Amino acid sequence: MINPSSNNNLAPSNADYPKSIDAKTFENYQRFTEETISTLSNEITELEEKLNLFTNLLEISQYINQYIKSQNLFPLINDMLIGVFGARYSTIYIKSNDEYVPVTPRQFSAESISLEKALIYKHHEASFVLNSEIPIYETSDEDKAIYSCLGVPIQINNAPLGFVIIQHQVKAYFTKLHATFLSSLANHIGVAIENNLLYNQIKESASKDGLTNIFNKKYFFDTLNALTNIDTLKYSIVMIDIDNFKRVNDTYGHPYGDEVLKTVSSIIKNNTRSQDIVARYGGEEIIIFFYQFIDANLLRCRLEEIRSTIEETIISGDGFFASVTVSLGCYIRTDETVSLDTAIKYADANLYTCKRNGKNKFIITK
Ligand code: GH3
Ligand code: MG
Ligand code: MG
Repeated sequence: MINPSSNNNLAPSNADYPKSIDAKTFENYQRFTEETISTLSNEITELEEKLNLFTNLLEISQYINQYIKSQNLFPLINDMLIGVFGARYSTIYIKSNDEYVPVTPRQFSAESISLEKALIYKHHEASFVLNSEIPIYETSDEDKAIYSCLGVPIQINNAPLGFVIIQHQVKAYFTKLHATFLSSLANHIGVAIENNLLYNQIKESASKDGLTNIFNKKYFFDTLNALTNIDTLKYSIVMIDIDNFKRVNDTYGHPYGDEVLKTVSSIIKNNTRSQDIVARYGGEEIIIFFYQFIDANLLRCRLEEIRSTIEETIISGDGFFASVTVSLGCYIRTDETVSLDTAIKYADANLYTCKRNGKNKFIITK
C-alpha cells in the first residue's frame, strides 16, 4: 500500500487500492488528491502564462518585421510595448557617441530623462526591475505617478545599441518574468533597429546627390510619378542654372566649382519647405517642386530671396573669395491638362529667356 503523505508524486495503481479504507486513510487520500490537483493547476496557469508570452512574442516579431522599413519604427515599437505591458509610458534610448538618446516622444521632463540615464548606468547598463513605495519621478499630478520601472538593454552581438525603459503606475507591478520577456523582445528590437537604420541609410544614399546632398533626379521623378493625384495637384516648378559656371570652373578650378554647387544647393534648400522637393537636375541645374504653392506674389518673393542671397553670398576658395549668380525659370501649374513633363519644359523655357536677357534674374509664368 502506498503512503499518500510520502513525497511520491505518482498516483496509486489499481492494485494498490485497499478493499475498504478507514476514515483516516480516506482523509489522507483526499488531501493527496487535492494537493496534486492544486499543483497541476498552478503548473497549468504558469504554462498558460508562458504560452501567452510566447504567442505575444511571435505576434510582436511579426509586427516589427512588418514595419522594419518604416521611418517611424521607434514610435511604433514603443506604442506596441505600452500596449503589451499595459504600461503608462515606454521610452527607447539609442546609444550614440557613448550617450543614451531618447528616440521616442513622451511628456516627461528633461530631469526624468537624466534620472533614467542615471538608472541605466547605476545598473551597469544591464536589466533592472525597480518597484518603489514613493513615485520614481517628480510629479505634481498623483494620477500620473510612476511606481514601477523595468529596464533592459538592447544589444547586437553583445554590444550595447540602446535601452528600453517601461514605466507603470501600479506599485510592485514588474517581476523577473517581465524582465525576461522584455529581454527577449529587446533582442528582436535590436535586430530590427539595425536593419532599419541600414535600410534607411541605403535608401537615403540612393535618393541623394553625393556632392550637394539634395535629392537626385531619379528620386524627384520616382516620388512625383508615384503620386496618384499628381494630375489634379496644384504646384509650381522652378528650374535654376548657375550663370557662367564654365568660367567659374576655368578661373578658379573644378574643386571651387564643387564648393559653389554645394553652397548654392544649400541656399535653395533653405528657401523651401519640407513638403517641397529640391533635386539636382543636371550638372549645375537644380529643380524645385513647390507643393501646392501657386501664389505668384509669394513665389516672386521666394525666388527673389533665393536670387539675391546667392548673389550676396561670398564663397571662399583657397586664398580668394568670389560669388556667383543664378537664373531661375518658374511655371505655376494650375491647368490640369499640363503634364509634369510639360510643366518642366515651360519652366526651362523661362530659364532660357532669362539667360538670353542678361542672366541673374527670374521669370514666372502661369
Ligand atoms: P550659362 O550662364 O549659360 O548657364 O553658362 P554656363 O557656363 O553655366 O554654361 P552651362 O550651364 O552649359 O555649364 C555647365 C558647366 O557646369 C559645365 C560643367 O563643366 C560644369 N559642371 C557640371 N557639373 C559639375 C560639377 O559637379 N562640378 C563642377 N565643378 N562643375 C560642373
Ligand atoms: Mg550654367
Ligand atoms: Mg547648365
